[in-house]
Amino acid sequence: ENDREVLTWQSFGDGMRTLAETIYESGWMPDLVVAVARGGLLPAGALSYALGTKSIGTLNVEFYTDIAETLPEPVVLPPLMDTSALRGKKVLVVDDVADSGKTLKLVIDLVSKHGVVSADEEVVEVSEVRSAVIYEKSRSIVKPDYVLKRTDKWINFPWSTLPPVSDPNKVGA
Ligand code: 5GP
Repeated sequence: ENDREVLTWQSFGDGMRTLAETIYESGWMPDLVVAVARGGLLPAGALSYALGTKSIGTLNVEFYTDIAETLPEPVVLPPLMDTSALRGKKVLVVDDVADSGKTLKLVIDLVSKHGVVSADEEVVEVSEVRSAVIYEKSRSIVKPDYVLKRTDKWINFPWSTLPPVSDPNKVGA
């Protein structure tokens, strides 16, 4: 269909290498990668290998349940990562797409509130948070720092195009 943007496994793999090179060439390297689950898991894993960043964490955020079904606001779901571990670190938040941008904004806000507080209660070192996405849509309320491609179409990602596996012998499956 030409009303869809289709990302293949091959272009995903090549694209993540390209995005890692863009990050490297920007002169900024993360101490830690945070994947926005589930959509950000595969790009975050690919980027962490390509960047050589071994520390990786995930935050589970749910928003869309289907193409037509949207929760009013994205919500962080359990299990929760201990975001205080991000204090004073350079953090790269990775997601598949910034569409409305609400999911990315939620995670960036959550991660960036962790500064290092000195004895006199002064914030001395703030976590530096940057974000990377495969796709950015024009309506996004946040501008990710690193973007591979831009589109306003609905995107088919290789990991979520097919429905979950089911028993072919099951009646009515
Ligand atoms: P947001 O609107 O908060 O930026 O997007 C939240 C999530 O919805 C994304 O991380 C992604 O998982 C899903 N999503 C948004 N737009 C698309 C799309 O075009 N295709 C697919 N497959 N998922 C999308």
